[in-house]
Amino acid sequence: MTIPQSWDARAKSASFFGFTDFPSINERGTVIVTHGKGPYIYDTEGRSYLDANSGLWNMVAGFDHEGLIAAAKAQFDTFPGYHAFFGRMSDQTVMLSEKLVAVSPFERAKVFYTNSGSEANDTMVKMLWFLNASEGNPQKRKILTRVNGYHGVTVVSASMTGKPYNSVFGLPLDGFIHLGCPHYWRFGAAGETEAEFTARLGRELEETIAREGADTIAGFFAEPVQGAGGVIPPSQGYFQTIVPILKKHGIPLIADEVITGFGRTGEMWGCETYGFTPDAIISSKNLTAGFFPMGAVILGPDLADRLQAAADAIEEFPHGFTASGHPVGCAIALKAIDVIENEGLLENVRSLTPYFEAGLARLAENPNIGEWRGKGLMGALEAVKDKDTKTPFDGSLSVSERIANTCTDHGLLCRPLGQSIVLAPAFIMTEPQMDEMFDKLGAALKQVFAEVG
Ligand SMILES: *Cc1c(COP(=O)(O)O)cnc(C)c1O
Repeated sequence: MTIPQSWDARAKSASFFGFTDFPSINERGTVIVTHGKGPYIYDTEGRSYLDANSGLWNMVAGFDHEGLIAAAKAQFDTFPGYHAFFGRMSDQTVMLSEKLVAVSPFERAKVFYTNSGSEANDTMVKMLWFLNASEGNPQKRKILTRVNGYHGVTVVSASMTGKPYNSVFGLPLDGFIHLGCPHYWRFGAAGETEAEFTARLGRELEETIAREGADTIAGFFAEPVQGAGGVIPPSQGYFQTIVPILKKHGIPLIADEVITGFGRTGEMWGCETYGFTPDAIISSKNLTAGFFPMGAVILGPDLADRLQAAADAIEEFPHGFTASGHPVGCAIALKAIDVIENEGLLENVRSLTPYFEAGLARLAENPNIGEWRGKGLMGALEAVKDKDTKTPFDGSLSVSERIANTCTDHGLLCRPLGQSIVLAPAFIMTEPQMDEMFDKLGAALKQVFAEVG
């Protein structure tokens, strides 16, 4: 076999890209990254890019944080790998669990480790199925999520994800029910106030529970702010409306904090930002500041006790991943939490948020931006053909992809999601870097909207 010469050709010939528009990379080529510095990445062609999405929401301390690199190296020197089966786990794993419990909103909690957010959601579903069956409720298995919710790509977490693309896999599985998306600007009815819209979503939940039967529903999973659905903060009063309904019917609320955890919304957890306490938290992405693949299920007191009782009844919890609680991942996560709490990252999210929001609001003055939305350092601008009627551009124009591609050409990486452009800067970002981000994005918006008119 002859090896083609360019990195682009080599990548395309031997690697398969996920979530990638193939016509677009065939036309424009790929970006093969060699290293990073702060929020910038550098590629094999000598180009550099300001990454306005922190990688995939996760590299919140930048691409070269010395303390995180040192923590990883030190742990590799000490003990480079182990599992968490058979009553054995690394000391780092023990310490990380204590730390996660301490920073969680729970007075008492227990942690179970996975390698990704998808696996953490799958694990949570298996935990609910397992403890319900053990309590004599084997039929209590249905899972409620929302349209535009993103929970991952494994068979169960993809079934939870409320995006149409999963139909190509014959998903969702039976028993995964998608409720309305709490996006008032897009889904509010004509003449409906935001409070009325939220109340309608509450009624939809009540009706769904009545129709399906509370004794068949294992849990309700929600991101505090929907992330990969296009950065959708909940409508006003949303969690205050649904939490009492779920409580009344004995349905656990699981907060999928894979993006919102560890400071993205300005508080440690998105559920703190929105003033509710879930029954469990799903974590990944920022957990290791993107320096190691790792996910975690953090069970609040009630679910922790019930899972323990169910496991005691058969003398084990028959579930786990070979690399669950990996000592290097745990050492990195311990350091990442320390960096976020004690190196000013959380403060930077808070102090930069008004600047970020002002930048989004300024770009939203463009007649082809229908709305800006966001919370903390996650935001989106939604492109529209007509601002008053909120009419989207024709899908065939691929407007958001064109905006993102134009940005890429000018050294800025941002993400098209539906008709929106999503920004999720690293927590270490500075105001001048944010100026660069908005200047480049603003220029791209002008150029693309002029082209599509
Ligand atoms: C990314 C994401 C996941 C899936 O995590 P992976 O590590 O990609 O499996 C789950 N939930 C949310 C909210 C996410 O953003």
